[in-house]
Amino acid sequence: MELLDRLQRQLDQLDEAQLLRRRRVVATPCAPEMLVDGRRLLAFCSNDYLGLANHPEVVEALAEGARVHGAGSGASHLINGHSRAHVALEERFADWLSAHIPCARALTFSTGYMANMGLLTALGGPEAELFSEELNHASLIDGARLSRSAVRVYPHGDIDALAGLLAQSRAAVKIVVTDGVFSMDGDIAPLPAMLQLCERHGALLVVDDAHGFGVLGARGRGVLSHFGLRSPHLVYVGTLGKAAGVAGAFVAAHDTVIEWLAQRSRQYIFTTASPPALAHALMKSLDLIEGEEGEQRRLHLRALIAQVKQELCGTRWRLLDSDTAIQPVIVGSNGEVQRVAAALQEQGLWVGAIRPPTVPPGSARLRITLSAAHTAQQAGRLTSALRALDSAVPQEAP
Ligand SMILES: *Cc1c(COP(=O)(O)O)cnc(C)c1O
Repeated sequence: MELLDRLQRQLDQLDEAQLLRRRRVVATPCAPEMLVDGRRLLAFCSNDYLGLANHPEVVEALAEGARVHGAGSGASHLINGHSRAHVALEERFADWLSAHIPCARALTFSTGYMANMGLLTALGGPEAELFSEELNHASLIDGARLSRSAVRVYPHGDIDALAGLLAQSRAAVKIVVTDGVFSMDGDIAPLPAMLQLCERHGALLVVDDAHGFGVLGARGRGVLSHFGLRSPHLVYVGTLGKAAGVAGAFVAAHDTVIEWLAQRSRQYIFTTASPPALAHALMKSLDLIEGEEGEQRRLHLRALIAQVKQELCGTRWRLLDSDTAIQPVIVGSNGEVQRVAAALQEQGLWVGAIRPPTVPPGSARLRITLSAAHTAQQAGRLTSALRALDSAVPQEAP
């Protein structure tokens, strides 16, 4: 079949460009020590920033949720899939975000990908203009495209460029869209200045806090809390498969925005509601995140971040300027980043080698992610291995 030949040729090209992805098979729960393709590895690549993915109380809550609510929801939220477990979770998020968004209400989605798509397609449209940060997550990019809005992409962190675009816009609906913490760079969007611009121009500010929720701000309430922001212009997306350790996502915004999403968001309406047991387990995650244990975990995570930055100082493994759990090391070429990742794996260390199209061409990187579940000694194993490689692996000619 000609189509198969064509696909195979394209796969061969990816292989030649060192861009073929391989899935590793994991035989143990998400934790620093994992059994991967039959080998024990110390992992620095998950987004389980607080170490809750395999927390015994969360696991037990998931099992209890299944006993109380069953395995599946049976239908979408607008048919019979909307459980009291979802309601309780939405009310809790609304309460969390009420300090930052007046008349806050929340709506849960099955995944962050769907939340972003569902949000942008419902709010956007031919009369809307979207202002999208260059390094936004794929789900925001796809949501923007599918929304049929005019899309203006502005350079990373460039407030002046954003101000210029907003000033030129004649659109009836203006929406600025950004990651809160950039997933591949680890830096935080300059939200206070962005919000000021949005208020001046009557724009909404959509903040995808996939990597800040649970980690940043007072009691882990995320990036809006980190900056102390409050405005009806804010639309907040939290994802629940990362620091919260389970799965799913929610959008929190002014009541009117949320009602519009519930009525019009196709990614909310035309999909089976996530199992209510997940919502039940998430209530336990939130207890841990906002309680004393969460405080201790965030404290420990911050210490690990400082440790890794300090121990890699003065090596060729220049970290991007990030104070979050995402600590990227730019290596450059696709081949080199794979060689470095393979050398680490030889020593039992698993760090993600991130290549285009996830990051711009020429900026392939190791994406080191830290978790409160790591010990200081484990973080030290990674930095010692990198320091040893610094002298052992010849640097690729530019
Ligand atoms: C992971 C991620 C998402 C997608 O969330 P899922 O729940 O995994 O679908 C969205 N935005 C950002 C910035 C992310 O890192």
